[in-house]
Amino acid sequence: MPDNKPMQHVAQPTREEARTLPHVHISTHPVMAHKVTALRDKNTQPPDFYRLVKEIGALLAYEATSTLALEQCEIETPLMPTEGYCLAGGIGITPILRAGLGLAEGFREVIPDAQIWHLGLRRDERTLQAMEYYNRLPHKVDLQVCYAVDPMLATGGSAIDAINILKQRKIPRISYIGILAAPYGVQKLVQEHPDIEIYIAALDERLNDVGYIVPGLGDAGDRQFGTF
Ligand code: URA
Repeated sequence: MPDNKPMQHVAQPTREEARTLPHVHISTHPVMAHKVTALRDKNTQPPDFYRLVKEIGALLAYEATSTLALEQCEIETPLMPTEGYCLAGGIGITPILRAGLGLAEGFREVIPDAQIWHLGLRRDERTLQAMEYYNRLPHKVDLQVCYAVDPMLATGGSAIDAINILKQRKIPRISYIGILAAPYGVQKLVQEHPDIEIYIAALDERLNDVGYIVPGLGDAGDRQFGTF
C-alpha cells in the first residue's frame, strides 16, 4: 500500500447518482450476483478466482453484445439453402493489461473470432494516473464494435485513457466492460466519454483513501495471477 492517500479529501458521488447516469448498465442477473460474491470472498484462491473472472466475462459478453448489428446471410443446411443472420462487422476486445486478461478470455468464449487488441496501462500508485506501456492495436480497423475490458473501474483513469486510444482508431462503437465499479469512476468515465456504453457486474459503495474499491475484491490482477 502506498503511503499517501490520493482519494482522502476527494468528494465522491453516491451509488444512486452513478446508477442513474446514461449508458450505465448494471447486471441484474442472479447467476452474476452469485459469481461476484464468490469473487469477493477473500478465501477464493487464484485458480478459482481466475475461473470466476472468465465466467463473469462470458456473462458480461452475453449482456453487452445483445445490441450488436446483424446482416442477412445465405447458407445451406444439410437439407436446403436458407437465409440466416450473421454479425455485421468484426468485434474487437481490448484487455487492459494485466487484470483484463481473464475477462477477455471469458468474452472470447462467447465470440471466438473476436480480435484481441492488447493494451498495457499501469496506474501510478501515488498519483493514480494511468501510463501506457504496451500497445498491440492493429493499424487496419474493420470492426463494428470494440470492448475495452478491465475488471475494476476505480478512479476511471485507465478506462478513460484506453477509450481515448481506441477512439484514435475510429471504431464506430466502443463499450467499457468491468466487473466492479466505484461511483466515482463511473461518473468520470461518463463525463469524459458520454458516447460509450458501460456494462458492469456490480456497482460498489466508494473508493477508499488509497483508491481501492470497497467493499471490492482487492487487487484483481494479483488475485488472478497469484502475485501477492
Ligand atoms: N484495481 C484493483 O485491482 N482493485 C481495486 O480495488 C481498484 C483498482
